[in-house]
Amino acid sequence: MKIAVIGSCMVDLIAYTDTVPKAGETLVAKEFAMGCGGKGANQAVAASKLGAEVLMMGRVGDDAFADNTLANFEKYGVSTEHVSKVPGVSSGVAPIWVDADSQNRILIIPGANMHLLPADITAAKDQLKQCSMIILQLEIPLETVYAAIEFGNANGIPVLLNPAPASTELNIDYACRCDYFVPNETELEILTGMPVDTEDQIAQAAGSLLAKGLKNLIVTLGDKGALWMHGGERRHITAPSVGAVDTTGAGDAFIGCFAAELAAGTEVEAAIGRAVSYASHSVTGKGTQTSYATADEFSQWQT
Ligand code: ATP
Repeated sequence: MKIAVIGSCMVDLIAYTDTVPKAGETLVAKEFAMGCGGKGANQAVAASKLGAEVLMMGRVGDDAFADNTLANFEKYGVSTEHVSKVPGVSSGVAPIWVDADSQNRILIIPGANMHLLPADITAAKDQLKQCSMIILQLEIPLETVYAAIEFGNANGIPVLLNPAPASTELNIDYACRCDYFVPNETELEILTGMPVDTEDQIAQAAGSLLAKGLKNLIVTLGDKGALWMHGGERRHITAPSVGAVDTTGAGDAFIGCFAAELAAGTEVEAAIGRAVSYASHSVTGKGTQTSYATADEFSQWQT
């Protein structure tokens, strides 16, 4: 069963430097690395690495970063028929400075990602109707997110919304029309304006969203795993204790795996358990997509 990921593609441009420049200053940095990212792309790649058939819908610019992104999707077997170039616009890029204390300074330039429009959902309707699930995040225009939710509802396709990065502009009525709503703790705090320092506070904040009509709320909790609340039920799925090396993109690994498991017919609670385990494995390696295990690597790690 095919998964549609409708979301962002970004290229991370990472400079490793002992010192960051002041205004007007030019410095020589130690190293440079480029990596494919964007929440949508990360989730698509994670699901595909696990063997799911994935259709990515996104926009890239008409620059070299676009070719890089397309080649990366092809490498990981993600369908790019609906990833097209927008003339005269840059790709989404994220220049990142990492200093000697491993502190990040990140600028996100959304570029072509903001050119994925509601009309693009309609244009791809025949392919989208063949999908068993639609995955969304908030790095594309909100109107496009809403159009995709409406499309999923009208065609009986389950929708998962990962409200990241957190936006107080998100219309919660649309969140309630999704089958799965998956924030992390920070996003939950921003969306509800409630504290999330303890598990009870998290459950209270989550409860305030459920009271508005959310169906399945899954809060990822970093090294504490995930909390699943639906109806009157509450389940905490703990994460394995691992030596974390780099937690970047762990939330995306969780969502990609969760979607792949649901597409393969796994029940929700078991799919959350697998997703927690998969995301925890991803934090044991450096990088984002490069730290996501294939199905084989994941099964070997678990045994
Ligand atoms: P990111 O923004 O870095 O992509 P996130 O904040 O969206 O991540 P988290 O809630 O931090 O997502 O983590 C998602 C999942 O990753 C967790 O449910 C857990 O399975 C795993 N995870 C994250 N950090 C750790 C850790 N230190 N040890 C074990 N597992 C972890």
